[in-house]
Amino acid sequence: MNNYTKFRPKWFVPHCQCSLCADSVSLNQLLCGPCLEDMRRVQPGCAVCADALDGISGTEMVCGRCQQHRPSFDETYAAFVYQPPMTRLLWQFKFRARFDIGNFFCHQMVRDLVPKDRPDYLISVPMHTTAIKERGYNQSAYLANLLARELKRPVYHDVYERNTTKTPQHQLNLKHRKRNLQDAFILAKPRAGKHVAIVDDVITTGATMEVLAAPLKAFGVERISVWAVCRTYRE
Ligand SMILES: [Zn+2]
Ligand SMILES: [Zn+2]
Repeated sequence: MNNYTKFRPKWFVPHCQCSLCADSVSLNQLLCGPCLEDMRRVQPGCAVCADALDGISGTEMVCGRCQQHRPSFDETYAAFVYQPPMTRLLWQFKFRARFDIGNFFCHQMVRDLVPKDRPDYLISVPMHTTAIKERGYNQSAYLANLLARELKRPVYHDVYERNTTKTPQHQLNLKHRKRNLQDAFILAKPRAGKHVAIVDDVITTGATMEVLAAPLKAFGVERISVWAVCRTYRE
């Protein structure tokens, strides 16, 4: 035994615990097998919003909501359903600076996205300056950077700016959020491209994605993909 090994302090020993249940896992593994199995994956559903399809009419794989009000975005991809234990994992990434969890999410997404055609560029969802100050980072931008690097495509974080005259969304109730969202973003530096992907952590109603996709479509972007770690099922 050399001196280095002999006097190796305890904190050199790698910390190998599942991020959800604290069971021991092997080095660099984020989750244990059972916790990984508990993460519900989004199954092929509505071609536009990725919500679960509950009986459709016609040949188009599009849910009733999207048939009634076709969104400005063309397709949605999400890896997981937003429900426990995913909600706890996402919270750690979002509010506890667990970037290893962000890397895990990216890895899961890239596995599904790589075989498909790649967009001309990616954009992230800008956060309100107040929220950035509180949190210190934008989880959407973090994911967009990783995905762009993996897919070898450019990423632009200045396509949209947050309208700073508006109250941060998380400080409002649902009714005021809807009204506030309408002009929460300013299309600041749009770039030419046929196909753009908007990256976010969670898709709930899709309202934010609509607000971001519509001006890009009006600008001339032909196809908009929405990519998220998870989405809620409106079941
Ligand atoms: Zn576990
Ligand atoms: Zn739909």
